[in-house]
Amino acid sequence: MDTTALFKLSYGLYIITSKKGDKINGQIANTAFQISNSPATIAVSINKQNLTNEFIRESGVFAVSVLDSETPLSFVGQFGFKSGRDTDKFADVMYKLGTTGAPYVTQNTLAYMEAKVIQEVDANSHTIFIGEMVGAEILRDGVPMTYDHYQKVKRGSVSPASPTFNAETKKEEKKAGATYTCALCGYIYDPANGDPYTGAAIPFEELPADWICPICGVEKNTFLKNK
Ligand code: FE
Repeated sequence: MDTTALFKLSYGLYIITSKKGDKINGQIANTAFQISNSPATIAVSINKQNLTNEFIRESGVFAVSVLDSETPLSFVGQFGFKSGRDTDKFADVMYKLGTTGAPYVTQNTLAYMEAKVIQEVDANSHTIFIGEMVGAEILRDGVPMTYDHYQKVKRGSVSPASPTFNAETKKEEKKAGATYTCALCGYIYDPANGDPYTGAAIPFEELPADWICPICGVEKNTFLKNK
């Protein structure tokens, strides 16, 4: 069995959110999908170890925020590589509460939908929550982020410093300088693509000492040099 066949499945990238009492939390997930039309039902698949799973089980509600393809990597990292147990992921993030009380993100978001759970399916490491949609809105026009596109940006094959992630990567002569990989999140810094914060094509070694991973926020010394 070649499990890399799974890489040919296409996905989006979403922030799945929920609440528990007066607490709110959210996480990045690529598995959110519509199941039926009338009534409209949607489903999300959430790892059992994640705080969001616990929140959805408790409250029976969740919301899905559909990310824009131009969403900065750091914003994805805020929800993707940190645990709500350690940090308030919503600090400095624009959001609103839906009718269910679940939050939805209004920043970098094209649309949201919120649902009340009607069924939970145990799927080993994950729980699939099926919900009846009770609210939804388009927030603005744009191209939804796909998981594939996000992976390309993260690998550095699309420059995050470019005005839009969607623009085709220009095949430029690679400038001198080694690439470095973040040991935590896998983000690759490639000097040829430039520093995502400034756009400057400078070698990793010359980045300032307080430079942090644009995705997960770890310090520079967490990066490993690639051969
Ligand atoms: Fe990182």
